[in-house]
Amino acid sequence: MEDFSSFVEYIKNHDNFKGTITENEPLAQKSTFKIGANARVFVAPTDYYSFQLTLRRILAQKLPFFIVGGASNLVFPDEDFKGVILSSRNFSDAMIFPKGDLPEDFEPYDFQKDDVLVTCFSGTPMAQLVDFCIKNDLSGAEEFAGLPGTVGGAAFMNARCFEKSISDLIFYYTWMDYSDPDIPLHHDRINLQDWDYKKSPFQNNKRFVTTVTFLLKRLHGDAKMQIAKRSRRYTLERLEKGHFKYPSAGSVFKNNHDFGAPSGKLIDECGLKGSQIGGAQIAPFHGNFIINVENARAADVKALVELAQEKVKEKFGFQLETEIIFL
Ligand SMILES: Cc1cc2nc3c(=O)[nH]c(=O)nc-3n(C[C@H](O)[C@H](O)[C@H](O)COP(=O)(O)OP(=O)(O)OC[C@H]3O[C@@H](n4cnc5c(N)ncnc54)[C@H](O)[C@@H]3O)c2cc1C
Repeated sequence: MEDFSSFVEYIKNHDNFKGTITENEPLAQKSTFKIGANARVFVAPTDYYSFQLTLRRILAQKLPFFIVGGASNLVFPDEDFKGVILSSRNFSDAMIFPKGDLPEDFEPYDFQKDDVLVTCFSGTPMAQLVDFCIKNDLSGAEEFAGLPGTVGGAAFMNARCFEKSISDLIFYYTWMDYSDPDIPLHHDRINLQDWDYKKSPFQNNKRFVTTVTFLLKRLHGDAKMQIAKRSRRYTLERLEKGHFKYPSAGSVFKNNHDFGAPSGKLIDECGLKGSQIGGAQIAPFHGNFIINVENARAADVKALVELAQEKVKEKFGFQLETEIIFL
């Protein structure tokens, strides 16, 4: 029997814990889908040491837990989550990283004159990274303007926007291995062999991303004025496509480029746009979006996912693979 009360007491009273911890926390309002019941415990540390001590305690007490960033790619369950939600939302900052301070075991890298490294804590909203780039005349992240969620979530998912993957920008990252109760911090230079379309080295293992360092370019003169303009244009395009009209978790299915047609088009060609189950609907304006039109439940979303998978399989012989994650 899990002893959540003693866990909460331990964390709350620990001198070195910085952050927030609450019990029976409603999850729906914390996710972009606005779906889900309560989490037994919700912890949001503000620094690396607080994550470390929280994870250590979770492991020592063998408590079920789940890591959450901006919860913009997640479907929280209709029943209470009987575990700890470990949120990075308070672990947020973006800063210029001095190139001379790179870990000594990294191979030397031939930086160009205007190359700039920016380090973000994993809970930094992507919007904050984009703003930071605009303020500091840094180009490279414009395509990610308007992407909901955090830097850590984007790295985990290898988020892809307007033909650019977040891995295209990453220089190095740090992570905690939470299969090890001592939870050491690792640092790795990006190795593109570990990354692919919507694939990252953080999936299917026990890695908590702590920081991500991006390699960006400083622009000068007229060129730097374009950074804000381009960022605005990408955000506007999302608005025009209806991304923020209703609560959702973005694209539901991955695209399979080998198959030759985006998943949304396949769903559209099955005549499924506008199909509704309970309070969830396949968006009339985007075949690959499921939207929460009226108090949707996770079960409604799941039923629509299965409907789309079944119909697309029947018509095209193709198995749609989900991108959204059900807890
Ligand atoms: C309107 C809308 C538009 C969207 N458009 C796009 C788009 O254009 N392209 C795209 O790729 N996605 C898109 N998405 C989906 C989503 O925003 C991205 O996948 C986003 O990068 C997820 O980040 P997050 O912080 O919200 O992650 P979450 O949803 O909180 O988590 C996603 C996964 O990452 C893991 N995770 C989160 N943080 C960490 C961490 N620090 N360490 C280890 N694991 C972690 C979680 O455990 C979970 O498995 C869209 C979503 C919405 C709502």
